[in-house]
This record gives sequence, structure tokens and C-alpha cells, in this order.
Amino acid sequence: MAIERTISIVKPDAVGKNVIGKIYDRFESNGLKIVAAKMKHLTRDEAEGFYAIHKERPFFGELVEFMMSGPVMIQVLEGENAVAKNREIMGVTNPINADVGTIRKDFADSMSENAVHGSDSLENAQIEINYFFQPEEIFVRTRG
Ligand code: UDP
Repeated sequence: MAIERTISIVKPDAVGKNVIGKIYDRFESNGLKIVAAKMKHLTRDEAEGFYAIHKERPFFGELVEFMMSGPVMIQVLEGENAVAKNREIMGVTNPINADVGTIRKDFADSMSENAVHGSDSLENAQIEINYFFQPEEIFVRTRG
């Protein structure tokens, strides 16, 4: 399996619940390494730009407001099959339907406030990494 990189965002609801560390533990205990990370309070332009693909969807306005409602933690995760693995660890969009043991099942309250974002394809992962990180902000983990 290929080593991939993907974007993960701990959304404002989960940051507010003080569970950044618990969510990071899910990544690390599933073999994903954090190779870049930053806390950011998204501006309207940043939130709208990030979710531009959903611009025409009815929930777009609410999604943008939510993503601006507090700081987020943004990280690049690296590992075998990282894109799909992160999506598996996250659980499906609506926490009611998420599998037991997933981040969204354990930390999310609703379809909109659902704790985490994860890139949905390798192509989008690269776009999203470039959206938030300069190349020099992503590290080679020389000690493992
Ligand atoms: N979302 C929402 N209502 C919906 C669908 C999505 O509020 O009916 C929000 C939710 O926060 C979700 C984000 O929009 O995580 C992006 O939606 P997507 O379908 O890409 O889900 P994801 O890839 O995050 O599971």
C-alpha cells in the first residue's frame, strides 16, 4: 500500500469540547503520523474557500458560520492508505450512523457539528494540504 498524506481538521465543536488530544490519539494509535499541524481561527474567506465545492448546497451558509465559530486544529496525516484510513477512523458524516469506536460516534453531536473533517480523495488531499500549508511547514519524521 502507498504512503499517502491527507488533511484532517478538528472542527470548532471538538476543539471546544477539549478533545484535541483524544482525537490525535485515534490517528496515532491507527498508524497515522502527524507531519504538520496548526491552530487557526478561519476567516469567512478561508472557510468559504475551503468548502467552495459545497457552495450551492443548502447547508453551505450554516457550515461556514460553524467553521468560523471558534479555532480549529488542522493537521497533515501521513501513513499507508492515509486518505481512506482517516475516513474510516472518522466515521460517516452523520454521527447517528457512524460505527462504534469512530471519532464522530464518540465526539460529534450532529450532522453539521461533526467534530472532524478529512479529505475524501488523494486528489482533494493535495489541494487541501496546499490550501493550508507551505511545503516547509510539513516535516519529514526522521526518528520514525
Ligand atoms: N454538512 C451539513 N449538512 C449536510 C451535509 C453536510 O451540515 O446535510 C456539513 C458537515 O459538517 C460535513 C460537511 O458539511 O462534514 C461537508 O460535507 P461532506 O458531505 O463533504 O461530508 P464529510 O466528507 O465531512 O463527511
